[in-house]
Amino acid sequence: MKKRIIAFNWKMNPSDAKSASALFRFASKYAKQPIIVAPPFVYLPLVSGLKSKLHSKNIFLAAQDAFVGSSGAFTGAISPAMLSEFGVSYVIVGHSERRYVFGESDQLIHAKISGLQDFGITPILCVGERKKSSFEASWKIVKNQLDKDLKHAKKNNLIIAYEPVWSIGGNKPTDASHSVRMISKIKSFLHTAYSIRVPVLYGGSVNCKNIDKFLQYNEIDGYLVGSASLKKDQLSCLINKVI
Ligand code: PEP
Repeated sequence: MKKRIIAFNWKMNPSDAKSASALFRFASKYAKQPIIVAPPFVYLPLVSGLKSKLHSKNIFLAAQDAFVGSSGAFTGAISPAMLSEFGVSYVIVGHSERRYVFGESDQLIHAKISGLQDFGITPILCVGERKKSSFEASWKIVKNQLDKDLKHAKKNNLIIAYEPVWSIGGNKPTDASHSVRMISKIKSFLHTAYSIRVPVLYGGSVNCKNIDKFLQYNEIDGYLVGSASLKKDQLSCLINKVI
């Protein structure tokens, strides 16, 4: 069976450490195969400690963002070096909420990717069109993001997540055939342009009800899940179905 990746992005949730601990313990219980969990920065020491205590060898830690370098005068920023200390193996970069709520540019995203790779951390680069439109118009946007974000970055040690922004939010409409077509296009572009084959995930309102329509496509290497990762029944169901 194809080995798939599943990454859970908690975003700015849950609102207290006790709930974060309970959610991590639950995920740890169900992670019979490797999964990726991306809690908010402030919970990383807590979950990193729990990971050791519970011997959760199947949970790999991710951060939801990082800046570049190891230290410096960058108020509010967290460096890849700091994340490394807490055993973070992956960092989500260029998530649509970072791009459009926090105004991150492709130039900054590119710098973050290179900085993470220098520390041996795997960036999970999110790309995707904001508005639902034709495949050709969407591809133009995605290709532009890939070109700018990956230019001069190392091309291995990388995961791409295709997330059509219009489908992010937990209960938004999804379109599996559009997404699988886009994922195939991303893969052939990366192969032709850079001779690389890296995993390409899908993200956008994935839940236990709609996952089956995505699972039938071998082109999808895994899933980046937001809202559903906070609900225990969804979490266990998705882990069971995807990996
Ligand atoms: C996301 O924000 O990356 C995401 C996929 O969220 P959701 O699953 O809630 O659509």
